[in-house]
Amino acid sequence: MIGIYGGTFDPVHFGHLRAALEVYQGLGLREMRLLPCFQPPHRAPPVADARARLTMLRSAVGTDTAGLVVDNREMRREGVSYMVDTLASLRAELSDEPLCLVLGADAFLQLHHWHRWEEIIAQAHLVVTHRPGWTLAADAPNLDPALARLWRDCHADDLAGLAVVPAGRILQFTITELDISATHIRAMVAKGESPRFLLPDHVWNLIRLQGLYDIKREMDED
Ligand code: ATP
Repeated sequence: MIGIYGGTFDPVHFGHLRAALEVYQGLGLREMRLLPCFQPPHRAPPVADARARLTMLRSAVGTDTAGLVVDNREMRREGVSYMVDTLASLRAELSDEPLCLVLGADAFLQLHHWHRWEEIIAQAHLVVTHRPGWTLAADAPNLDPALARLWRDCHADDLAGLAVVPAGRILQFTITELDISATHIRAMVAKGESPRFLLPDHVWNLIRLQGLYDIKREMDED
């Protein structure tokens, strides 16, 4: 089984990295691929350009984080990064190997707005993780009725159900909750506050080196 962890990674932080590692280990995946999107369809364009986000992600994962791999196919494809297209290209390479698309609760609650969203579950399992501030339950008032139906129909009680079919199941997976967001990190940097210990030092160094996120110059010595 392969894990797919998509995001804008603007910048990558420990909330992403810890979730990716815990799902990789907890599900016994062959590998966990981190896929930075080129152009997100449902939100404002990223602040840092694709090359800077990819460099930060590569430096965060490094070469010694067992199982975590950066896959830059959405950046090579350019244009709007629709997950349904990405999964189709992965599926073409991996034939029937189960694919597990990891989504934070905030992302899952928006799934019905994704391009051709109903086809996504035909290509991959969904592994939905908690994110501080977001509640998830089949009867939650914030869950769209189509998603509530999907949740009920495809819900897997345990991970054994995921290994036997290539796609189509939804697993809720508990991870260490880290209340970190890229939005908050960008705001801190722009205000002249240090985001250290929310993201890898390598990434913070790149932000300073490249002057990303309207960084205050006096922070260069931080
Ligand atoms: P932004 O603040 O710019 O919206 P973000 O921090 O939410 O960024 P994204 O790159 O948009 O990060 O998120 C990609 C994926 O990572 C989503 O599935 C999201 O739910 C998940 N994610 C992001 N931050 C966390 C976190 N702190 N804990 C768990 N999951 C997270």
